[in-house]
Formats: sequence, C-alpha cells, structure tokens
Amino acid sequence: MNRLFACGVFAMLVCAPCLSQSASEPALPYSPSLAVTSMDRSVDPCVDFYTYSCGGWQKRNPIPPEETSWGVYGKLYQDNLQFLRGILTKAADTKSGRDQVTEEIGNFYGACMDENAVNERGQRAIQPQLDAIAALKSIRDIAPLTAHLTLPFGQTLLFVAGSTQDPDDSERVIADLNQGGLGLPDRDYYTKEDTKPKEIRDRYVQHVEKVFELLGDKPEAAKKNADIVMSLETALAKASWTRVEQRNPYNLKNKMKMGDLAKLSPNFDWQTYYRESNYPQFETVNVESPKFYKQMNDSLASESLDRWKAYFRFHVANSYSAFLSQPFVDENFNFYRAYLRGAKEQQPRWRRCVQYTDYNLGEALGQAYVHAVFSPELKADALDMVKRIEAAMRERITHLDWMSDETKKQALVKLDGIRNKIGYPDKWRDYSSIKLSPNDFAGNVERAGTFELRRQVNKIGKPVDHGEWQISAATVDAYYDPQMNDINFPAGVLQPPLFDRKLDDAPNYGNTGGTIGHELTHGFDDEGSQFDAKGNLKDWWTKEDREKFDARTKCVDDQYSSYVSVADVHLNGKLTLGENVADLGGEILAYMAWQSKTSGMNLQPVDGLTPEQRFFVGFAQWDCANERPDDLRMRAAVDPHSPAKFRINGVVVNMPDFAKAFGCKPGQPMVRPAEQICRVW
Ligand SMILES: [Zn+2]
Repeated sequence: MNRLFACGVFAMLVCAPCLSQSASEPALPYSPSLAVTSMDRSVDPCVDFYTYSCGGWQKRNPIPPEETSWGVYGKLYQDNLQFLRGILTKAADTKSGRDQVTEEIGNFYGACMDENAVNERGQRAIQPQLDAIAALKSIRDIAPLTAHLTLPFGQTLLFVAGSTQDPDDSERVIADLNQGGLGLPDRDYYTKEDTKPKEIRDRYVQHVEKVFELLGDKPEAAKKNADIVMSLETALAKASWTRVEQRNPYNLKNKMKMGDLAKLSPNFDWQTYYRESNYPQFETVNVESPKFYKQMNDSLASESLDRWKAYFRFHVANSYSAFLSQPFVDENFNFYRAYLRGAKEQQPRWRRCVQYTDYNLGEALGQAYVHAVFSPELKADALDMVKRIEAAMRERITHLDWMSDETKKQALVKLDGIRNKIGYPDKWRDYSSIKLSPNDFAGNVERAGTFELRRQVNKIGKPVDHGEWQISAATVDAYYDPQMNDINFPAGVLQPPLFDRKLDDAPNYGNTGGTIGHELTHGFDDEGSQFDAKGNLKDWWTKEDREKFDARTKCVDDQYSSYVSVADVHLNGKLTLGENVADLGGEILAYMAWQSKTSGMNLQPVDGLTPEQRFFVGFAQWDCANERPDDLRMRAAVDPHSPAKFRINGVVVNMPDFAKAFGCKPGQPMVRPAEQICRVW
C-alpha cells in the first residue's frame, strides 16, 4: 500500500528540552523538486521519458557500495539519518541533564554505538533464549516456549501472532494469526524449481550452517542442523499463501472460536500459549492462513523434539544477528544484503544505529525531527493539496463513463470517509515503560520488541485508535490503510526534493500531488476497493460495475506483466497491480488538481520547459534511481511496487496529456494507441 516500501504494522506531551536545537546540528540539505541538471535532454522524451527526466541524476548518483539501490527517496532518507544522528549523538551523552524522551533515544542509540560492549558480550546476549530452547522437554512445551521467547521488533518465531481490526467490523480489534517462520524473504524461494531459486536455497543452507557454527556447533553438526532447518521451513513454505494470494482479502478472513483453532491445530497448546502470552480475554481469532496452521500441526506431530530445537536455535540467533557481535553482524550482512540484494559494503555503524532507533522508538525520535523540519505552514500547504486531490477524485468519480450511478454513490461515500493524516501523530507514543539501558543493546532491542508486541496484543477488545501511525514521522514514505480508510503522509515525505515550498505548483503537483493521488487511489484499487467507507470488507459494487472494473485492471496487469525487470525475470503483473493502478490513478488526479488550481493563471515556460512539461518532469523526478540487478531480482519476487523506470514510463504511456505536452506522435514508444490505453480511475 505504501508508495515505496512494502511494509507491515505500528500519549504524551511534547517536552521542550528535547526539542531545542543548537546551531551545530546539521540541517537537511536542500535540493529542488525539479532540477534540470537531473535530466538528460539528449534523450527523446517520447522514446524514454524516465531517462530523459532522470538520466543526469543517474549519472551523478551511482549506488553507494553499502546500498542495495539508490534513488531520490533513499537519498532523502539518508539526509534524514545524518540529521537524526546529530540529535542522537547529543542525546546519548549520559552526563548532560536529559529529559525522559531524550534519555530513551539517547540510551538506545548509545548502547548500539558501544560496539566494544556489544562485541564483548557476544552471543551471551541471547543465552537465556538458547537455554530455554535447550530445556524443552516435549513437543507440548513448544507453546509456552514461543510465548516466552521475545524477539526483536518485526521478527517472529514459527508464526505471526497479534491483533487486527475485525474485517467485518473495523471498530473492533480481535486476535490474529498469520503465517511466518521462514528465513528466506518469500515462500516462493522454497518452491520454485528454476536455477536461481535453487542456487539461493543452497546459499541459504550455507548461511544457516554458518550461524550454527557461530553458536558453537562443530561443522558436521552445523551442516546437519542446517538441513533440518531447511526441511522444516520448506514444509511450512509450501503451506503458505503466495504474495498474490495474500492480496485477496477474502483469503485472509477466517474468523474462528478458540475451539475451532484447537481443532485446526490440536498439537499446539493454544490455551497455554495465549495464557502465557498474557492476552486479554477474547472469543474470536482471525486465522489468515488456515492451511499453514494445519501444516504446522502436522509438522509438530512428525518432527522430533531435537529437530525443533535446531529450528528454534537458528531462528533466535538469526533474528538477533544484527544486534550481536561482529561475526553475527557480518554473516547477516553477507547473506541478506550482499548476496540477496547486491550491497558491496556494510553501512557504517552509526547509520544502522540511527535506523534501529527510528524503527524501535520512532515516535520519540520523531518529536525532535518534526520540530526541526515540519512547520505549521508546511502542514497547512500539504493539507490544502490533499483536499484539492480529493476534490479531483470526487470530480473524476462523478464523471466516470463506465460506472453506474449506484456504485458512484457508494464510491463517493467511501471518498468522504477517508481520514487525512499529515506530518505526525496528534499524540506521541509513550515508551517510558521500556527499560532502556545505556550499555545493553541486545537487551534494549528485546525489551522494545516486547513493548511493541504487548501494545498490539493489548488492543484486543479496546476501541480502535484512529490517530495511530504505522510508520515514524521521519520515514520517507506514505501509505493508505484499507481497514482504517486513512491516508498518511509523514513529515519525512513532505520535504524537498519531494514537496518543495520554494517551487511553484507544476513540479509539486507532479511529484507530491501524485503521491497523494497514489495513496487515495489505493482506496479504490483492486484490493482497497473491496473495503467500504468504514474499512469493512464489504462489497459496495454492482456486479456489472465490478466486472467492468476487473476488465480495466486486467489491462494494467497485462501491461506490467510484459515488462522485464532483470535478465529473464518479468514483473508479476498481479503482485504489482494495486501499486500500478495507484501510480496511474494518482498522476491523473494530480494533473486534474493542478489544472484546476492554476486555471486562469498565465503560467510561463521555465528553463525551456512548458508548465505542462514541468509537471511531468516533476513527476518523473520523484523516483530517479539506480537499482542493482540482484535487488531487482529479489524485489520482483516480493515487492508489490514496480522498478522506478516502469513506475514512470508505465504511467505516462496511459496519459494522453503527456503525449500532448511533449508533442509525442502515435507510434513512438511513450504513446500507446488510443484503444490500448489503460484507464481504471
Ligand atoms: Zn502504494
């Protein structure tokens, strides 16, 4: 749903001292949202608009060795990290008088930066977890074990447990179970028989073996254990939904009573698991992937206790590797970032530590960030743009020539129900209950992970908090949440060279207007359109209109399926469908809103570009990027977003306004014949 990353889930008063800034803190560097120097005007825009708009940027911004790809978003995030580093370095000074929030982020960052202490401690940091696994007496004890092993934020063991909004009643929070338990990024890696997935599996087994050796296993034992992990994971992977299947929300809706869960998976002691995990009382649990739990049940019966112990040992060590001593950190980097995604070097430690702080304590760190970079005027401007894009959507729905009045009426109800969230949360999350030590990094990570898990679990039975954000204020990204029916734009994504108050409307609407339109269109893409104004999974379409809609999205599916991502790998048009529909719909809305806002104005060319051309170049320059082949290959399997080039060229070929702006002629690559143009919204 995000414009950029595929991403999962996430009260106090703002304290004055932590927000005060000194002149020595670095400010965010400025680059404009439209830079002619980023273009390559030797390229014909009607042949390859992306390279015309971004060729200069690509030449001047090679991928840094520590990155897996490099683009405008990534570069801005990097600037953010540099800026946050200044705040955190000061906050980590234990001798200065620190307020609560500064102490929290300072201790977390400081403990992470104390590499000597981390190295000295080594794997002792996870010894209690390893001891608990070694003490397992029976398969039945796996339930309480998984309840008590606490992993870092975002990591899970065997399966994913937490809470969700009831798909049928979005104001109610119920318990939730999802598939998990794999060490490779997707279940397809375990099942595909092509050459590359096979190679990746072999390389993964070597990685698992290496982790066992780091834990002290002799090479033979490590090899044997690695094979066990691969075998257990393969069984779970085969029973897991594919990413395309997961895009159908009806596949994921399987609400049941505890008794039904016990019948589905009787070899796992759910009663004990939920009691030991301190869940509030609940009656209903949504099991997103029943066949996964059936397989887990079968594996619990067929696999020996020793084999399960090997599985758990690996997953605990693998989940914590990035937070342990150098050999673990290196092995983790070598497999996940270097081998799978093509990075050449490890990121410097400070940068990793800033990211871990943002990830674990984002709403503490975000307070200082927002204070420094997000003025009330900026918020007001962004809200004005959101309102104008929503007005364009209203206009567009009202005049759609293929949709009945009945469905239009419901679509407008949904549009009116969307909540706009801009910049940062009204109430910041309170992390004061987490014990954050200045010299226990892995412990801090564990306690922050526990805090987040408890926060998710404690939502069960309580009213939904519509003010909650899933990403931090410094994040350079935006998202739509179908069950909340809200669009969210953190302060981090409303900065130059994206949202640029120094420039005029044309590039701003092309760029940020398109982002807003993108998130808004997610409410009406193939997935989001299945949820109603309240966020309930409920069909508000007439049958005929849904059929027409499906035919229109099929056009987009076919278009993107024909694109080659890297070597022999085509894009998966079904996996990327929602994002591609949002990209196209978003830019159409942005163009409408821009035209409406500037109608009657006497706009002049700038730098040899007409206002219309500047709108489109501004659009393309949101995603100027260089991408590594390994990363493109991995993303083709897991990322619902298309590669940068197709996110630009794939949109403009469907916009006659683009061809008009650049005088492109029928038959040129950036002009689709009228009858082939995809138009969903
Ligand atoms: Zn998106």
